[in-house]
Amino acid sequence: MEKKKLHLVPVIILVVFEAIAVTLWLTKHNIFYLFNFSYIGISLALGIFLFERKYKHARRVVQLLIGLYMLVYLGLISRENMQIEGFWYYLFNGVFEAATIHYAVAKIFGPLLFGRGWCGYACWTAMVLDFLPFKTPLRPRKNIGWIRYVTFASSLVFVSALFLAGVENMERIMFISFIAGNVIYYGTGIGLAFAFKDNRAFCKYVCPVTVFLKPASYFSLFRIKCDKDKCVNCGKCKKVCPMDVDVTDNSRKRKNGTECILCMECVKNCPKKAL
Ligand code: SF4
Ligand code: SF4
Ligand code: SF4
Repeated sequence: MEKKKLHLVPVIILVVFEAIAVTLWLTKHNIFYLFNFSYIGISLALGIFLFERKYKHARRVVQLLIGLYMLVYLGLISRENMQIEGFWYYLFNGVFEAATIHYAVAKIFGPLLFGRGWCGYACWTAMVLDFLPFKTPLRPRKNIGWIRYVTFASSLVFVSALFLAGVENMERIMFISFIAGNVIYYGTGIGLAFAFKDNRAFCKYVCPVTVFLKPASYFSLFRIKCDKDKCVNCGKCKKVCPMDVDVTDNSRKRKNGTECILCMECVKNCPKKAL
């Protein structure tokens, strides 16, 4: 990645999030959106700024700032189900609020601009998984990515069934399913990490959100590119990549290209500054 371009990233991120914050504040007449998206934009910009200053834990700082805010404040205190069930719930109600806005920005349209930045910097599931010991996979990738479609369909069927059954007190059920969903995600994620010796096994095979994230991030404007003139094919970038991305291939079809979480481990470890 060119240095000049890198310096622009925190500014672009901040401007994009401020634009979203102000637009939603004015159109929804709710000042919460101004605070919410400003907080997220500032956290992201701060993390990238720290990364530029070569602070080792820059990404972890952002993960904790945003992940804890979303899990504890939005999820547990404000009782907003920001998981995929919450998205279906708001969508079926025809409401563009909370989880539908979150999904539109972070997981459906946002990835066209910043790829799977959500997965690298903001997801509260990965915030915990990234503390586990298998930062780079110790075993080859398995061909079981189809599981994500099962979990995606299950979440859709679950919320559809609640609507079709005309269940009352949906808000409460959504809150309970948020807690239960997180317990299941953390339990499964930690279990898979140890079973496959790979912190990100849950992300690679099970997470239903990747059904949205992967196709959108294929077209991402912001992506890691390799300067072929500098690259000496040492393979270090692939060795440290938590998502098995063939980052030396600049084509959009590169192996596991839609898995890149923009963690910058490859950039940090390239001995020739080719990325
Ligand atoms: S793949 Fe799913 S669990 Fe993993 S970081 Fe992305 S949204 Fe979070
Ligand atoms: S680490 Fe750098 S030099 Fe080595 S293969 Fe990757 S891009 Fe090329
Ligand atoms: S190491 Fe590089 S290619 Fe792999 S996920 Fe992180 S940023 Fe993407």
